[in-house]
Amino acid sequence: MPELRKDPITGRWVIISSERAKRPTDFVPQAQGSHPQNVPCPLCPGNESMTPSEVLCYRDPTSNPDSPGWNLRVVPNKYPALRIEGNIDREGIGLYDKMNGIGAHEVIIETPNHNEQFSQFAERRIEDLLWAFRDRILDLRKDTRFRYILIFKNHGRAAGASLEHSHSQLIALPVVPKTVIEELKGSQEYFNYKERCVYCDIIHQDIKERSRVVAENPDFLAIAPFASRFPFETWVLPKAHSSNYENSQKNEFIFLAKIFKESMMRLDRALNNPPFNFILHTSPLIDRSNPYYHWHFEITTRLTAVAGFERGSGFYINPTQPEDAAKYLRELKL
Ligand code: ZN
Ligand code: ZN
Repeated sequence: MPELRKDPITGRWVIISSERAKRPTDFVPQAQGSHPQNVPCPLCPGNESMTPSEVLCYRDPTSNPDSPGWNLRVVPNKYPALRIEGNIDREGIGLYDKMNGIGAHEVIIETPNHNEQFSQFAERRIEDLLWAFRDRILDLRKDTRFRYILIFKNHGRAAGASLEHSHSQLIALPVVPKTVIEELKGSQEYFNYKERCVYCDIIHQDIKERSRVVAENPDFLAIAPFASRFPFETWVLPKAHSSNYENSQKNEFIFLAKIFKESMMRLDRALNNPPFNFILHTSPLIDRSNPYYHWHFEITTRLTAVAGFERGSGFYINPTQPEDAAKYLRELKL
């Protein structure tokens, strides 16, 4: 059973996953390369038996579960960072706090086509993916052991993707991560002082100033945030205030898919298929709706290394001015 341990100084939780036990030699970098050619891809149609049984699937109604005929498939991770079975069992040992590593770790297989990249997806496919995120949150939030659901995608080896086949991941956690707590705290303080949502204010100001706008449609805005940590960092936000992603409605997903596709195409065109992560930032599960937090996606490229200075200071050195990045992305001919 993996274990969650809390750093008594910063309150940061770590997962000690000793089942993936490694000897020091296991950390020596292996030769770079993609998935070996002779090993079948576990995410491809026909290889459904290589993954645990699907927990959600959008498939041809005449096809059977865990067999080909699907468009999008969600399965538990075969090598989960956290385990779904068991009790949380919070425990204090002297000043140290720990609990069982309970959680859900799922893989969202975004396409049956092994070679189709995220930036090539049709809007309809992205819309399905956005629905799948919502469907999984609505299902998992019934489990009262979970406090937060983190949804993210790693694209490219440099961004942490270990399989080529396009997929994103979901991890349901029994605690709210520190990064999220910091955002919640910051936006709550701003709200207490101004009685306005800080993200709504950012949206109004950036729409007015235009210089950081990457793309815009009636319901969504994509911006290079004022204090971007990474070159070409892009945030996608709903224009109307909403704290919880899972409260979104059908017509919103249509416009979200449109702006997501456009933003990804622009990044792909500008940086030639860069390694990237996207992360859904949404409220903890206990909040069904609040006036101060505003859900959004953060897309960050992995073009610069996070090294000693960043680790030591929490500062990032971004060599690209966000306004220049936004102008470049915005003016690209697609
Ligand atoms: Zn595949
Ligand atoms: Zn807002």
